[in-house]
Amino acid sequence: MTFHELARGENDFFFQADPAWLDDTPLRPASIEVGANLPRLVPAADIDDAPFLVIWELTQACDLACVHCRACAIANRNPLELTTDEGFRLLEIIREFGDPLMVFTGGDPLKRPDVFPLLERSVQLGLRTTITPSATPLLTAGAIDNFQRCGVARMAVSLDGPDAPSHDGFRRVEGSFARTKFALDYARQIGLPTQVNTTVTRHNLAHLDDIAALVQASGACLWSVFFLVATGRASASQDLTAQEYEAVFAYLYNLSKSAPFDIKTTEAQHYRRYVAQQRKAENRPGAAHHAAPEVIQRQVGINDGKGFVFISHTGEIYPSGFLPISAGNVRRDSLIGVYGHSPLFQTLRNADNLHGKCGDCEYRNLCGGSRSRAFSLTGEYLAEDPRCVYQPKLTARRHSPPPALALPAVLPG
Ligand code: SF4
Ligand code: SF4
Repeated sequence: MTFHELARGENDFFFQADPAWLDDTPLRPASIEVGANLPRLVPAADIDDAPFLVIWELTQACDLACVHCRACAIANRNPLELTTDEGFRLLEIIREFGDPLMVFTGGDPLKRPDVFPLLERSVQLGLRTTITPSATPLLTAGAIDNFQRCGVARMAVSLDGPDAPSHDGFRRVEGSFARTKFALDYARQIGLPTQVNTTVTRHNLAHLDDIAALVQASGACLWSVFFLVATGRASASQDLTAQEYEAVFAYLYNLSKSAPFDIKTTEAQHYRRYVAQQRKAENRPGAAHHAAPEVIQRQVGINDGKGFVFISHTGEIYPSGFLPISAGNVRRDSLIGVYGHSPLFQTLRNADNLHGKCGDCEYRNLCGGSRSRAFSLTGEYLAEDPRCVYQPKLTARRHSPPPALALPAVLPG
């Protein structure tokens, strides 16, 4: 399972600079994860210094062969992966950021024999630690017991169809659906919190209701719904249209009002815009059409490189696993320095740099569109998100956008 398949709110936390704007929003105390409808309050300035979420891709090895795999995972490990000692040191550095959510992902983290010592060290350091194992025979009761023994806060597994033919067809390995159900059942039995990740594509668009029913039956805390980025093995032909994104947003938003689990989206930053529009419309009739742009612009949301950093299996430092542009490598560069001061990360954190309608949009700080999707579909990471139907109300941007940085794309090695 790839990193983005976990999340915790990878791009769905809000940084609320103006509580008055969402004064009627039900807020929960900060927790390891929150649903997209449950903003977490964090000072906006914090994201310039430290990420809210750190993903470490321990390996790209995995025994599944999913059609959409970002990592183009293969069965064998890369000898250039970060070593155990490098991993320990990386975790110490991540702790220096403060209290980010730490996600162990892959590939399949269970393909590394040192995964449990690494998890243990992460928890000992005080990092809120989660893991995204792949649903293969490596995901045994013993492995799940070990997650719990190490102090893992949550285990996330994927479910991409309502039955074995649809799920296994997507994951391209027979038995994955049964293993996913086993893992969820066993974790529930021993009291380990779980989340279910679903990637919405053309193949399962008509089955979201059935999948949601399985999520509910599993007792998972969170349904994390991913939207496709055409990178790795994923192709744009599997993706939804912008109008279909909007329809799924409506489905999720309505479901969120009654579901016993939280719902969040990943790589659908514009779901925040949708939620904001709905709330304004519901709480102050007509206000959605007249919300003051200058107020909306003070809302800040996590995005690639903005509250978020991804460490590849070989130590490359990316704004996101879906945005394979390296700003450095933890073997030679300071992770803290790269996050805080590299031109790439600094550029991504300033929504005024965005191009096209995202740059003109009053929601650009709260949303900003998927930088990864913009890059994958246009080759330009500051371009507008091609999968958004919204037409900004602002007639002119405040600043002319600078040209995009001419940085080389570095594919995960
Ligand atoms: S093959 Fe599937 S489970 Fe394995 S890393 Fe890729 S997306 Fe995740
Ligand atoms: S135009 Fe861009 S910034 Fe505005 S809501 Fe759509 S994706 Fe978000």
